[in-house]
Amino acid sequence: MDKDIPVDVGLIYEGERIRKANMFVDLAGPKSIGAELLRVAPMEKVKDKKVTIIGPDITEMEEGTKSPFGVFVEVAGKKMEEDLEGVLERRIHDFSNYIQGYMHLNSRDIIWCRISKDAAKKGLSLKHVGAALIDLFKSEFDVIEKMQVTFYTEEDATKKFIEDARKVFEKRDARVRGLKDEDVDKFYGCLLCQSFAPQHVCTITPTRTSSCGSISWFEGRAAVKVDPKGPIFEIPKGEEIDPLRGEYSGVNEATKKRSNGEVEIVYLHSLFGHPHTSCGCFEAIAFYIPDVDGIGVVHRDFHGVTPFGIPFSTMAGQVGGGVQSEGFIGMAIEYLRSPKFLQADGGYNRLVWLPKALKDRIENELPAELKDKIATEEDATEIDPLKAFLKEKGHPVVENWGKEEEEKAEDVTKGAPGIAVPELSMPVSGVPIAGGGGISITFKNAKIYAEKIIITRK
Ligand code: SF4
Repeated sequence: MDKDIPVDVGLIYEGERIRKANMFVDLAGPKSIGAELLRVAPMEKVKDKKVTIIGPDITEMEEGTKSPFGVFVEVAGKKMEEDLEGVLERRIHDFSNYIQGYMHLNSRDIIWCRISKDAAKKGLSLKHVGAALIDLFKSEFDVIEKMQVTFYTEEDATKKFIEDARKVFEKRDARVRGLKDEDVDKFYGCLLCQSFAPQHVCTITPTRTSSCGSISWFEGRAAVKVDPKGPIFEIPKGEEIDPLRGEYSGVNEATKKRSNGEVEIVYLHSLFGHPHTSCGCFEAIAFYIPDVDGIGVVHRDFHGVTPFGIPFSTMAGQVGGGVQSEGFIGMAIEYLRSPKFLQADGGYNRLVWLPKALKDRIENELPAELKDKIATEEDATEIDPLKAFLKEKGHPVVENWGKEEEEKAEDVTKGAPGIAVPELSMPVSGVPIAGGGGISITFKNAKIYAEKIIITRK
């Protein structure tokens, strides 16, 4: 490790969070621009251990400010192949977080980094960050013979870098689009996010790219080849239990084993029953809107509110952590282009709301007859206007509204109305159990019926 680096570097800092009060400067993030990109380059084009900074270094930044930020890593080696780019690029995240006082979130063009006041006081420079990344990458991956890092903090240069990076991301994503799950006999899994979402096991198939959007099926395959004992592993498909929901015995077994038995069943293409777990670095969230019986998708870059009246950040806080949250999944934007996009739930025919920028981005993938029927924030940011919009445009979900009412009415005639929940926990406060302090009650597969609900302000 670079002897001059003024802070510690090691695995123990991976979970370090730098709160706003302790922030010296923000790099990229929701209020600025940024991206990270790793490319395999020819040997002669890479000068080993070279770190370049285009724009001001941390030491020249003012406390409390934010800066554009680009991280461009170039690696070379005789055994390096282009398919490894996405996988190695994803490791920028965990290796950056090994650096004390340097926090890294997300991936691709939604990165957000933060330098702590302590690290700035000790003189942490991007030169040190680059040198630490080079050391960490080279000691983990023998295939990297040479590595250089370029940081961008100057606005125009960062903008140009982001534009170029997006072209590479698009090319990588497009490569897997022609491949179907049926064409392959194994999928891949990734455990990288277990450092903060311990139950999370990503399943990567040709039609379901990783939740962070960084690792496609091809990249999973390349990763296993060079690092067979690493965090990315093979998942034999096994038996196809439910083709519509995307349930495979191999995925269930691998998930159960790698989540320490916490998650036993996974549906790759449904929000209901046993949806895929969500970590925290997903690019977007798909969410069920019961009031219209439709599905919305919101991405990280959208700063407005969804029809639930909450923004992406609030929803992400409730959905992430590696659990299965029925009605919600963290996903890659690329999954919106998948021919199997939430196919068990109706796919595009159930899609009722998207931020305008996201709708524009996937416009070519949307069926022509649905394009005008999917609302954006320009049409509705609350439930009632959304309902009115869908009704006026004749969205396919509207046909189900009447049916649902009929089903409910029928249910009432059969007995007490209820809400079926797979699992519900509640503290014993208010429940008369002797010595019940500190205990909670868990109802599994309960159907709840209440004649009256009393809410008391304390
Ligand atoms: S989101 Fe999934 S694929 Fe991406 S780093 Fe996390 S676990 Fe791996």
